[in-house]
Amino acid sequence: MRVYFDNAATTPLDPQVLKAMYNVMENHYGNPSSIHSHGREVRTLVEKARKTVAGLLHTSPAEIFFTSGGTEADNMAIRCGIADYGIKHAITSKIEHHAVIHTLEAMEKAGVIQLSFVHTDEKGNINTDHLETLLQHPERSFVSLMHANNELGTLNDIELIGNLCEKYNAIFHCDTVQTVGHYKHDLSHLKLQFMVCSAHKLHGPKGVGFLHINHRTKIKPMLYGGSQERNMRGGTENIYGIVGLAKALEIAYTQMPEHHAHIQALKSYMMEQLLANVPGIGFNGVTDPDRSLYTVLNVSFPAMDMADMLLFSLDIAGISASGGSACSSGTDIGSHVLTAIGSDPNKSAVRFSFSKYNTKAEVDYTVAKIKEICQVGNKVL
Ligand code: PLP
Repeated sequence: MRVYFDNAATTPLDPQVLKAMYNVMENHYGNPSSIHSHGREVRTLVEKARKTVAGLLHTSPAEIFFTSGGTEADNMAIRCGIADYGIKHAITSKIEHHAVIHTLEAMEKAGVIQLSFVHTDEKGNINTDHLETLLQHPERSFVSLMHANNELGTLNDIELIGNLCEKYNAIFHCDTVQTVGHYKHDLSHLKLQFMVCSAHKLHGPKGVGFLHINHRTKIKPMLYGGSQERNMRGGTENIYGIVGLAKALEIAYTQMPEHHAHIQALKSYMMEQLLANVPGIGFNGVTDPDRSLYTVLNVSFPAMDMADMLLFSLDIAGISASGGSACSSGTDIGSHVLTAIGSDPNKSAVRFSFSKYNTKAEVDYTVAKIKEICQVGNKVL
């Protein structure tokens, strides 16, 4: 059996998305900036996609800017938001994605900002009292905090954070890469200036996403070039990507309640089975369904000799999962998130992340394999 439990890293393309993209690749090759009919018909596809995305998020198409994905959107929000508003103080947490932390650290190193880290607890929850203290900084603050942590699944209350930011006149950028298409975001209601999406986390294509910029927020482009994206991002648009993104989001919204229930049931079942079958097992991050991303389960394994070999052993058994964030896989550096929450470095952690395509049989197979691996590992001890 082959099992794909790494959906927080990326998801398989939905066949309907592929179909929509294929049609564009095959039939619509004009440049949307061209004024002739071939160009105009492709421009229509881009604007239709923008309208679809905006409609689902309860915002105006004028607030949606297509990008090459989550990393670019995060960079654009942070770099341009800070530069164009003359921001001198930024607030983030130590458990953000590297697209956020490394960008802010580079700006701090360049002497542009002073960077403050809001305290998080051992489950990855933000300390909102500390956030409020940091927001009382004499300089106007730029706040970058994510909606759901990609390694732990812990959800932040972005309504509360948005209200706090508004109270202190701070600019709020929310990395919503792991939650767009999994939860509904109502941008007519949320108090934020920037939020981001990456299509490949919701059964769309890789290399495309968007940045939402609130209409009252005025920034200059990060990428200069042609007049694409209403002069906000130069470069010929990734047309099939954009069409695929809109289709993926449309499907996600239509199927959300049933997929939420299906995936949450798989996660709860896996937790139950692991607790019943593998002594010493635990979970990192919040697991309460109301405050935890239903697609992510971070499992903490008992200390054993074979711990380093865990992911490798799972891979041999045909199970793809991830040790921490996918963006760091292939490196020897441990997870900055698990380090920040003070997790025991002797225990290895594996992130299992689910999608609508996963089944209970896959969970059973994985739990049986984990049980075997842990028994062998403990014998070696
Ligand atoms: N932010 C978060 C929370 C993520 O999980 C990821 C991807 O893993 C990104 C940003 C980067 O998105 P992309 O792969 O589209 O650049």
